[in-house]
Amino acid sequence: MKRRRPRIVIVGAGFAGYECARTLSRQAKGAAEIVLINPNDYFLYVPLLPEVAAGILEPRRISVSLTATLPGVRLVLGEVHDVDFDARRVDYTDPEDRGGSLSYDRLVLTVGSVNKLLPIPGVAEHAHGFRGMPEALYLRDHITRQIEMAGAADDPAERAARTTFVVVGAGYTGTEVTAQGVRFTDSLVRQNTGLRDGPRPRWLLLDLADRLLPELDERLSGTADRVLRARGVEIRTRTSVKEATADGVLLDDGEFIGTRSLIWCVGVRPDPLVEAVGLPTDKGRLCVDAYLGVPGRPEVFACGDATAVPDLTRPGETTPMTAQHAQRQGKVAAHNVAASCGQGTPRAYEHHDLGFMVDLGGVQAAANPLHVPLSGPLAGAITRGYHLLAMPGNRIRVATDWFLDAVLPRQGVQLGLVRSWSVPLDTETPEVARVPNDTPGRS
Ligand SMILES: Cc1cc2nc3c(=O)[nH]c(=O)nc-3n(C[C@H](O)[C@H](O)[C@H](O)COP(=O)(O)OP(=O)(O)OC[C@H]3O[C@@H](n4cnc5c(N)ncnc54)[C@H](O)[C@@H]3O)c2cc1C
Repeated sequence: MKRRRPRIVIVGAGFAGYECARTLSRQAKGAAEIVLINPNDYFLYVPLLPEVAAGILEPRRISVSLTATLPGVRLVLGEVHDVDFDARRVDYTDPEDRGGSLSYDRLVLTVGSVNKLLPIPGVAEHAHGFRGMPEALYLRDHITRQIEMAGAADDPAERAARTTFVVVGAGYTGTEVTAQGVRFTDSLVRQNTGLRDGPRPRWLLLDLADRLLPELDERLSGTADRVLRARGVEIRTRTSVKEATADGVLLDDGEFIGTRSLIWCVGVRPDPLVEAVGLPTDKGRLCVDAYLGVPGRPEVFACGDATAVPDLTRPGETTPMTAQHAQRQGKVAAHNVAASCGQGTPRAYEHHDLGFMVDLGGVQAAANPLHVPLSGPLAGAITRGYHLLAMPGNRIRVATDWFLDAVLPRQGVQLGLVRSWSVPLDTETPEVARVPNDTPGRS
């Protein structure tokens, strides 16, 4: 009788899940059934998301097709909401709201992270998060709309508020969004008769820490600080938001800033599924051993942002939430899953950080590849080259968009495809219970 192939179910197709599926499909060569469950049919190259929000890259450039690039992997569109570890089964909801379940012989959980929300009045209602494609597209339209409406406004206060953008959180996300955002609004204003001769749009970047990029090397902070200030960004360190309203934000030093654009980049937390499955966690991240196995469940593995992976290069600590780690962990998880099925031997995850790159738009970047600090056009070129190499597909399309952006004016048009109710900042608030920010109703 023919023996049934073991079924390996991978939940989440981000950096960790995609790499795990890709490695397993190459290694297993049909000896195992590999199933990938993800809400979307693409792998999102998140580090270039700010370039989508700033109108440089078209959204599909950084969305790599899962079915086209992962031959031998079965894609199931859906969102897992429960795991029965004793029955070895995951339950999910598909995009048409139908329930489904899948049994597994091996399970890999790579569900990543979501926006972190702080209990500050008005933030859940009035701030825009920045973690996925819908948010980037919504933000691109929102910024475009604010500039266009400012150009038509007679009231100077309204015009000032619509051309003021407040970004909270000066980690790499907030810093990149601000750096790209200033260049985007400058280019929109140049094309707008009502604003062309007025003051430049105002961008503020806030953080509670005493420097930009507080989690990275100080030399990268210095470069980013210099570049952003030269573009006119007001950098407010040791500052946060006390309250957000429809008309602006009240800072904790008592100043009120009139704005219609509060962009929330205060960091991320593990995906809510981690809490839902009820396994032991460390600061909200799922606990695993150095082999990326869940203790007491030899058939379950986990890695990436959602997981507290012991950092063998810094004993006592866990690996940071970065793509650099998530991708490499995905590969090790694949090896260890195969080893648990009798193919090869398990290996512990160990990776020395290779440095970080922060794209500041134009030809500017702050980078420390292999811990050599770089700035200016050389850093910019290395950063773009790195992204092209790291992307699993669409490289020519991305490079073409970069070339077009260098030689043509930015296209400032709204598409209106993503409505504010569909990009809630608070992932735990049911979307139907939310008050729409700026839409009269669902359409
Ligand atoms: C703007 C921005 C810029 C960044 N730049 C860099 C950078 O330059 N370098 C770097 O190293 N890191 C960077 N990061 C961090 C990096 O993107 C993350 O560390 C990385 O994406 C983590 O990979 P992951 O696979 O763990 O999770 P993710 O990439 O978040 O993927 C998780 C996947 O799981 C899916 N999922 C979630 N819940 C479920 C569920 N219940 N059922 C099924 N599927 C589910 C999600 O839809 C997603 O596809 C950046 C992050 C942001 C937001």
